[in-house]
Amino acid sequence: MARVAAPVPSDAELTRAVEILRSGGLVAFPTETVYGLGADASSAPAVARLYRVKSRPVDHPVIVHVAEISGLDEWGCDIPDAARVLAGVFWPGPLTLVVARRADVGADAVTGGRPTVALRIPAQPVALALLRAFGRAIAAPSANRFGRVSPTTAAHVRHDLGSDVDLVLDGGPCAIGVESTIVDCTMGDVRILRTGGIPREGVEAMLGRRVEVATTSGGAPGTLPAHYAPDARVEIVDADDLTRRRAELTDAGRRVVVLAGVEAAHLYARLREADAAGADVVLAVLPPEDGLGAAVADRLRRAAAAGSIGGDPSP
Ligand code: AMP
Ligand code: MG
Repeated sequence: MARVAAPVPSDAELTRAVEILRSGGLVAFPTETVYGLGADASSAPAVARLYRVKSRPVDHPVIVHVAEISGLDEWGCDIPDAARVLAGVFWPGPLTLVVARRADVGADAVTGGRPTVALRIPAQPVALALLRAFGRAIAAPSANRFGRVSPTTAAHVRHDLGSDVDLVLDGGPCAIGVESTIVDCTMGDVRILRTGGIPREGVEAMLGRRVEVATTSGGAPGTLPAHYAPDARVEIVDADDLTRRRAELTDAGRRVVVLAGVEAAHLYARLREADAAGADVVLAVLPPEDGLGAAVADRLRRAAAAGSIGGDPSP
């Protein structure tokens, strides 16, 4: 397939983005995982606006994006060796590290009042250029309303947030397409809070030991049982049962879209397309759960749970 060069924001757009962030505004920007909705992480009013626009519960912390590894010591304290190893290997990249937070930096709202902070250096060139030009940390959750499907193109962001976001920087489709892997380094050992763009196997290889994936994580978003939900109901089906179940639903008058063998980079776009096509049900076959397949399966399960227990209220 021919590759189309990713769009690159002009210097004038970057300058405008920095001005907006400095004045407490919101800038959506591409990362290699999903598009982020960025605010000045040190400004309480800017972070408050971020939560309002996302309709995000205020006790759910957001990831703080930094440009340099030194951000680990600027925002964190008592950093364990494992966190330094992982930062050294995977930053910039789709890995978020949760460490103890320094009390004297950032807006309290960023961490949902917790004594911990989640940090990441994104690898996407536009994100890095923005962080460097701004010269401070950017708090950024995914640029969608709370509980809904994350955006992986600038058009997704505009569709979801419209004029609630002051500027959308377009860097083309996200290369990874699922959120970062979150590794909690605050419990004496490390554990994965959310599977994502860096496979568990990669984390384990670098640390030379097994790393558990937490089953509960204090109800933080992205780890809620119901999240990442399209309007269509998502139903997980075994590959063996796909043909029968599709016929059953179609016979009952349901509009069905099948998601099988979908790669991480296309997952959210496919869920959005299903909604745009007016699907009632997305029948999803889970991928093998190695590499990025673990994150894809995780998101599909949560999307399915959203349908069965009500999920987030629709915006
Ligand atoms: P996102 O919704 O992609 O911005 O991811 C936010 C996720 O990062 C949350 O679901 C938490 O799991 C994790 N997180 C962020 N900040 C913290 C924090 N201060 N302590 C623990 N986990 C955090
Ligand atoms: Mg999100």
